[in-house]
Amino acid sequence: MVMVLSSIILGLKYLFTRPYTRLVPEKEPPFKTETTRGRHVLFMEKCTGCTMCQRVCPADAIQMVKVEGEWKMNRKKIFPRIDMQRCTFCAMCVEVCPTGALAMTDMTGWDMTTDNKETTMYMPYQLTPPEGHKLTVTKQKWIPPPPMFKPKPKVPPKKATR
Ligand code: SF4
Ligand code: SF4
Repeated sequence: MVMVLSSIILGLKYLFTRPYTRLVPEKEPPFKTETTRGRHVLFMEKCTGCTMCQRVCPADAIQMVKVEGEWKMNRKKIFPRIDMQRCTFCAMCVEVCPTGALAMTDMTGWDMTTDNKETTMYMPYQLTPPEGHKLTVTKQKWIPPPPMFKPKPKVPPKKATR
């Protein structure tokens, strides 16, 4: 009985409460934090075409594609292209990249809304840093864990002298 009453009271309370709706972007900007992970950035001059980002991606969102031109670091001329429809923004590709060629921005949600699914596949050249967006996940930002605690070696007891 008490449970039923408390449910009714709660229901009545919310009946007269205004709904919590954020009007984005008319009244407020999209919600972001310092560590928001959004659309990637590829620094092509740093990419060696090692394919590690493709192999680690759990969503199979990365394929390697050939790009014309001369690339000193990338003799095979292959670079990642990323399907943002599949991407879960886990950042594993960024963490595994040995040269820091991949990073992420805070461009997500509202910023990436489209009604054309064909535009969600980002080719290497399209992964250049977008204007006005912060890089949010980089290797430089990663803080290594503190070193393991090492107990001090025990000092052997001094021998008694006569
Ligand atoms: S962020 Fe995760 S899901 Fe997205 S491309 Fe990178 S590894 Fe794949
Ligand atoms: S972006 Fe990084 S991990 Fe991916 S192919 Fe290039 S160097 Fe390798």
